[in-house]
Amino acid sequence: MIKAILVDIEGTTSPIFFVKEVMFPYSKERMDEFIKQNKSNPKVRQIIEEVKQIENNPNLTDEDVAQILKQWIDEDKKIAPLKEIQGLIWKEGFETGKLKAPIYEDAYNRLKEWKEKVPIYIYSSGSVEAQKLFFSHTDKGNILDWFSGYFDTRIGSKKEKESYEKIAKEIGLSPSEILFLSDNPDEIKAAAEAGMNVVRIVRPNDAEYIKDFPYRQVSSFNEIELNGDLS
Ligand SMILES: [Mg+2]
Repeated sequence: MIKAILVDIEGTTSPIFFVKEVMFPYSKERMDEFIKQNKSNPKVRQIIEEVKQIENNPNLTDEDVAQILKQWIDEDKKIAPLKEIQGLIWKEGFETGKLKAPIYEDAYNRLKEWKEKVPIYIYSSGSVEAQKLFFSHTDKGNILDWFSGYFDTRIGSKKEKESYEKIAKEIGLSPSEILFLSDNPDEIKAAAEAGMNVVRIVRPNDAEYIKDFPYRQVSSFNEIELNGDLS
């Protein structure tokens, strides 16, 4: 009996292209203007100071810093001040309606139906703050309150069994009462090792079926019956 659902976002509820091809380019395009318009915001000032420290150059102008931040985006640097300023730019983008998070139709319909039956939780490598921003500004409206809780990698890596054990504990259920949905085969394996029910979502644009994969794979949420056979 499934008593809760845990879902991944990228490649599962939403297409992967959005983060790579929409959100990252947006943060790059907006960088110069955003810094100019928010240069007296203490958070932005702090980010600018951090960049100067990292570059070991106190004489950098705001324009220089914007240039460096854009270069870090191109280099795909996972660096704190970049993540922070991108968070601010995306927040503004979602709030002004310039960014809208796409949700696959089947995921939207099924989650809408399932939330009336069991609590649904999110587990994504994007921060909990980013997850909330995402679901409150989707292309189908604000669906933030569909979810009973949000987990990010602060609880542990998505590829480690222990993370799923910890999540089950936090939810207050046995892993065998939870259904986990993700496109990533390593995440599916880790959750299954923790004892969760698992189904791998294989979106034609985002992933491929794996031959002889030991767990069930489907191309849409429509193929999943909550209390049917999940194996
Ligand atoms: Mg994913």
